[in-house]
Amino acid sequence: MQNVDVLSHPLIQHKLTLLRQKETPPSLFRSLLQDISAWMAYELSRQAPLLAVEIETPLEGMRGMRFDGQSLALVSILRAGNGMLEGMLRTLPEARVGHIGLYRDPETLQAVEYYFKMPHRTEDLDVVVADPMLATGHTAVAALQRIAALRPRSLRLACLVACPEGLRTVQKDFPQVPVMTCAIDRELNEHGYILPGLGDAGDRMFATF
Ligand code: URA
Repeated sequence: MQNVDVLSHPLIQHKLTLLRQKETPPSLFRSLLQDISAWMAYELSRQAPLLAVEIETPLEGMRGMRFDGQSLALVSILRAGNGMLEGMLRTLPEARVGHIGLYRDPETLQAVEYYFKMPHRTEDLDVVVADPMLATGHTAVAALQRIAALRPRSLRLACLVACPEGLRTVQKDFPQVPVMTCAIDRELNEHGYILPGLGDAGDRMFATF
């Protein structure tokens, strides 16, 4: 699929397999999710612009390069996005943070917004929206619509597990938004869960099952 980057690094795939296993307890689930997300943030920052700075080493002056972490905004789709956010902030501690609260109506599977808080001056920011599971894609599209209206400098979507249905939905409305994921699973079931997936990411993270 166009504009979709699947991270195939062996360590990511190894940790994703542990994460998927039903025996994995919430504490380990959170820590694996954070580890993977920290690596995803490393990949997400690969193209980030650097600022030239003059510095002094103990021996002489030189021109170094500095990364402007504050030009980046990580936006968590509550609540499962918070698990990714924690890990991403380990790699990008200066990033600004936004939150968007969306829940899926269990009958229509459509996204309903209940919270929205973004950093100021979004137009100067490169925004990454984080949600572990790209299932129907309705939640991701609702979040992207809300944030795109603020005209960020760039907009991307990072998820842990995607499926063809969710990718198609996002690409229909946002063909220009790059998607980063660690896996594209087979399909959605009739309840909107990804198969084989990992179950409900929020429930597994916060032990609300
Ligand atoms: N949300 C989840 O947490 N898991 C899925 O499989 C789909 C949506």
